[in-house]
Amino acid sequence: MAKPDWREIQRRFLSEYAKSGISPKEWCEAQGLNYATARRYIKKSTAQKTAQKKAAQSTKKTAQKKERENKKKSSEEKVQEEKIIFSEVVEDGYDSSSFGLSPQQALFAQYVTAGKTRVEAYKLAGYKCTGNNAYFAASQVYRNIRVSRYVRHLRDKLEKRQAATIDDLIHQYTAIANADPNELAQHRRVNCRYCWGEYHLYQWRDVAEFDRASASAAKDGKQPPEYGGRGFVNTADPHPDCPKCGGEGISEVFITDTRDLEGNARWLYAGVKETKFGIEVQTASQDAARRELSRLLTARHGAGSLPTGMQPVTGYTPEDYRKAQDWINSEFGDLD
Ligand SMILES: [Zn+2]
Repeated sequence: MAKPDWREIQRRFLSEYAKSGISPKEWCEAQGLNYATARRYIKKSTAQKTAQKKAAQSTKKTAQKKERENKKKSSEEKVQEEKIIFSEVVEDGYDSSSFGLSPQQALFAQYVTAGKTRVEAYKLAGYKCTGNNAYFAASQVYRNIRVSRYVRHLRDKLEKRQAATIDDLIHQYTAIANADPNELAQHRRVNCRYCWGEYHLYQWRDVAEFDRASASAAKDGKQPPEYGGRGFVNTADPHPDCPKCGGEGISEVFITDTRDLEGNARWLYAGVKETKFGIEVQTASQDAARRELSRLLTARHGAGSLPTGMQPVTGYTPEDYRKAQDWINSEFGDLD
């Protein structure tokens, strides 16, 4: 039997289908054709079109998918790149643990510091949320007091690092070397309550303080407190002839409000640490700053330009400069 001319048969089916709308199966059976074989060739034109369309769509989809993948890839590369730049900038962002942050919160703060919007940072940190919700949720993270403290911390640090051009380094070293540590914290001897009281009796701050003490004594059935006058100021110097303290006053450690630091002290200050022994004020090393300053000044102007008392250091190289910069970074690296 000759091979059927399927093209001709299909053409006949289509003309019949156009008239009666007969299904390919019915038509094949009516024609005495084995439908199982014929179905590959005998199709409704619409079905054919759909098939073509589907084929076209799938090609298109594949193309789109490829495009998406490419985009994804390039954005991944971009993120990778950014991470590299970013890590140079923020580097030890994982000191975030001292801020009581989750790794995601820390990452969020780092991206915000690197200049991302809160929504971008939110997504980059791996939070899952879309549309308006993302803004809302990102804002919640952003407003978290710990997160915002960490962001401030990172920004401060970033600022200090970005300032590290050679002139800035010289400026910073000079500031650190010349800073007076007393501007940060002092141990001082201050007057006792009997130093400046009349007849060296207990001196009160003001009448209200005395009245409170009197009332309390009366309530407990005690003698009224002694009265050495008013005007006690706890920062005054001791009285040299005070019979109570012998002129030595009392010991007091005073830590300045570091938010108000200005000038050199601001560069000396490297943070505070709460230890079990109390608050520890951390400072940049003044000795190291003097050494580095000496190096840089020698390199720039020659040994003759050194301030008196400084040892000239010769053989300055870019490596030295790098070290100097590292030093500044490490001084402020663990600022918290
Ligand atoms: Zn005294």
